Parts: sequence; C-alpha cells; structure tokens
Amino acid sequence: MHNMTETSVPTIAELAADTLRFDSFGLAPEILRALNDQGYVHPTPIQAQAIPVVLQGRDVMGAAQTGTGKTAGFSLPIIQLLMAHANTSASPARHPVRALILTPTRELADQVAENVKAYSRHTPLRATVVFGGVDMAPQTAILRNGVEIVIATPGRLLDHVAQKSVNLSQTQILIMDEADRMLDMGFLPDLQRIINLLPKQRQNLMFSATFSPEIKKLSASFLNDPVTIEVARSNATAENVTQVLYKVQEDEKRDAVAFIIRERGLKQVIVFSNTKIGASRVAVHLVKQGIKATAIHGDKSQQERMAALEAFKRGEVEILVATDVAARGLDISEMPCVINFDLPYNAEDYVHRIGRTGRAGAKGDAISLHTDKDERLLVDIEKLIKQKIVRLQLAGFIATSLHTERKTSSFAERSERTPNRFNDKSAERPARSYQAPREKVDPWFLKPYEPSASQASVKPDLTTKADPSKPQKKAALLGGLVKST
Ligand code: AMP
Repeated sequence: MHNMTETSVPTIAELAADTLRFDSFGLAPEILRALNDQGYVHPTPIQAQAIPVVLQGRDVMGAAQTGTGKTAGFSLPIIQLLMAHANTSASPARHPVRALILTPTRELADQVAENVKAYSRHTPLRATVVFGGVDMAPQTAILRNGVEIVIATPGRLLDHVAQKSVNLSQTQILIMDEADRMLDMGFLPDLQRIINLLPKQRQNLMFSATFSPEIKKLSASFLNDPVTIEVARSNATAENVTQVLYKVQEDEKRDAVAFIIRERGLKQVIVFSNTKIGASRVAVHLVKQGIKATAIHGDKSQQERMAALEAFKRGEVEILVATDVAARGLDISEMPCVINFDLPYNAEDYVHRIGRTGRAGAKGDAISLHTDKDERLLVDIEKLIKQKIVRLQLAGFIATSLHTERKTSSFAERSERTPNRFNDKSAERPARSYQAPREKVDPWFLKPYEPSASQASVKPDLTTKADPSKPQKKAALLGGLVKST
C-alpha cells in the first residue's frame, strides 16, 4: 500500500491503482460487469479491506469518509451475499427486505441508492430509497411490491413501518452510514426503534468519519465482535489543495464572496454557511449580483434540494450555498473551489468541507473568510490540521453594496433591501411591513464610505499578497479520518 506522508496523500485514482483487482474477490460476474460499466478495475483501500471481511459475514466498524470509496466497499459485498436470494419471481413475498442501509440525510440516501442500483443492475435484486420530504405513496407502492435492499433515512423508514408498508423481520444485514452524523442529528431514538424491529441474528456494518465516545458506545451496544477498518490517516494533508484565509468585516462577507467568485471567474463552487438563514441570504445576495447561485439546506423541500443539486451538476447553477448537514454526502466531483463563508464551529467540519476539493488529482482551492471574532475557531482548526493557513489580503475588494448604500440610500430604502444588517429577525418579515425606528440606525452607516489605505491603493484584480511575516505554504486536506477522543 501507499506510504502516506504528511504532505503527500494519494488521490482516489492513485488509491485504486494498486495491483489488486476487483475480480480477485470472487464477486459474481453480474457485479463485475456492473463495475466494468463504471470503469472501476482496482479497489480503493477501504474496499480492499472491507469487501473480504463483509463477505465472511463479520461485523465491521469502518472509519471512512465520503470520497474514499466506502459506498462500494459495503455495497458490493452485500450484493454478493444477497445473490443467494436473487430471484425473478413477481411475488412480493419472494423479495423481503434483506439489507437495510440507514443514512442521516436524504442526499446521502439518494447517492448511496444510485450506487447500489448501479452495482446491482445486472442482478434480479431490487433496491429502493425512502426519505422524508416527498410523497410517501410512490415509496409505499415500491416497498409493498417487495425489495431486497432498502436505503433510508430513519424517520421516514419508521413512518413506513407505522403504515405497515415495510416489514423488517427478515433483514440480515444492517448498515449505518455516517453514524456520527446520525447521532449529531438526534437520530439515536429512531435508530434504537429500528434496531428493535430487526432479527437479533444479523450482520452489522457501521461507518463513521469520527470515533467519538458516543460512537464507541453505539458500536459496543450493537456490533458483534467487529473488525475495525480505518483508511486514511488522521487529517491527512494533500498538496493539490491550496488553503487561504481572507480577513473581512462581518458585514462585508457577502460582498467579499461575490467579489472572489467574480474575480476568479469561479464556477462549480460550494459556499459553506453555518446557518440555514445565512445560506439563503448569501444565495440571494449572489443572485442579485448576477451570479447563478442557489441555497441547499434542511428547510428546503426535498424536491427543491434535488432540483438545486441537479441544476448544479448540469452547470445551470454555478454556486451552491450549503450548510454542513445539507452538504454531507453530496457526491460532486472535480470541485475546483470550496469557500467557507463562515468558519465552522467544529474544526472537524473544516476538514470535511475542504475535503470536497482537490479530489481525483485535480487542483483545488479552499478559501475561508474570517473576522476578528473567529480567532478562537481559527486556532482550533490550525491545531487540528497541524498547520498555519496562509493569510492573504483580499486585494482590490471594496464592499460594493455597502459603499453604494452608504452614499446614496436613505435608511428606509436600505432597510428594504438589506434589513438583516440592522436586525436579523426583520429579514424574515415582509419588507414593506418593516418600520425600523430611525434611532436604531448604526451611525457608522451614515458616514461617507472611506476605503482603507490597502483597499484604495490596489488594482481591482485579485492579485493577492501573502502576509510576508507568515510562511507561504501550499497544503490541504483530503477528507481523512478525524479521530476524536
Ligand atoms: P464514496 O466514498 O463511496 O462516496 O466514493 C467516492 C467516489 O469514488 C465516487 O464518485 C465513486 O463512484 C468513486 N469510486 C468508488 N470506488 C472506486 C474505484 N474502485 N475506482 C474508482 N472510483 C471509485
């Protein structure tokens, strides 16, 4: 295998380029044909480790993130194990649920289902996905017709159980994907309810990006003598992603993102916001600036989220503004750039976020905005990744909308357009009903705009200069395992 050093971590293409081949696992010809359709010849490290162990029927505790090939790592052997039951009978009774894959988000469920369907397409095995936010009826019809592999988010699965559209009493294999995120999202009671519906005798696979005490507890409570599989070192760094930091004022952040996107001519970017409302506001701001952007977060309906993702993949939407939860599990390849509109509260999320760029050997940029109040978050991140991130000046940047508004608008006009700058809650009310008392105006906004010396003197292109006191480093992270203690 590869010698993973501090500065060089193999890309997924390199990881899969070892001498081991998929045809050495004894997988059915139908599965190998599907792999051939995908163009996969060599397993990635997690696949090389997980496939034989799962085929032996052992329980697995896998530490791996999206981007390592873990989905095929569990899907391929479970399809192989279920081949013994594959049949073309039309009777629903001949197609009971035999494998259940639980995921925290709808997007991940959908993505895993796409993979499972692709790998099982030449077999008679049936697979389907169920998640909330969409009509239950079509899901019910498919479940009632019989399906061997169900990929589900916990809440919606329990709704189907309550409606008796699904029976889990013959489930031989349970897979919990992104278990850490399921716990974060408060799914533990639902998971316990689901586990109680399954036969006691079954195979369990659990995947998690982190090994928190809660995850260890969960694994101890329902895995049976698991084989632990870990891939990628803790916080592995890669040279093909460049990380930079730009310091801005809090109220300049949206303009700064628009500026960076325009100046760099960026397309296919994920902008991360810590809050749902923040994501919406950034997207609205970018659209107003003529940038093709859309927000994707938990408050959006499933149709809206899927439509946004599809539009993004087709290139009709260039900027996807997302929260961590919504972005988890999105399989978007060749991301040239990730922008942190907010630094994440949790340093590990920084690793997840920037792991989305620089994949498959491509060059990537991870750009983060930070303000004075982010110092502590920055310290945590730099401690976790064990390196200093390069601080650059956002040369040529002038917060345009603030500039124009400060000079030309009355407060009443401004508050219609950007109410949140004065009062966060007002943004949720219709603009016309907003009657902010005049004394609430921050006097700073009534002053004529005075660009800082550095902003005024530079050319309006993005010739960035590093802080000469800081070492110039090019480094980044490839979604490696983050261990928490
Ligand atoms: P995952 O970590 O399962 O989300 O997979 C990350 C990406 O790698 C997906 O786009 C997969 O389709 C791709 N992939 C998975 N296994 C292989 C492989 N053995 N060779 C090449 N690409 C793969």
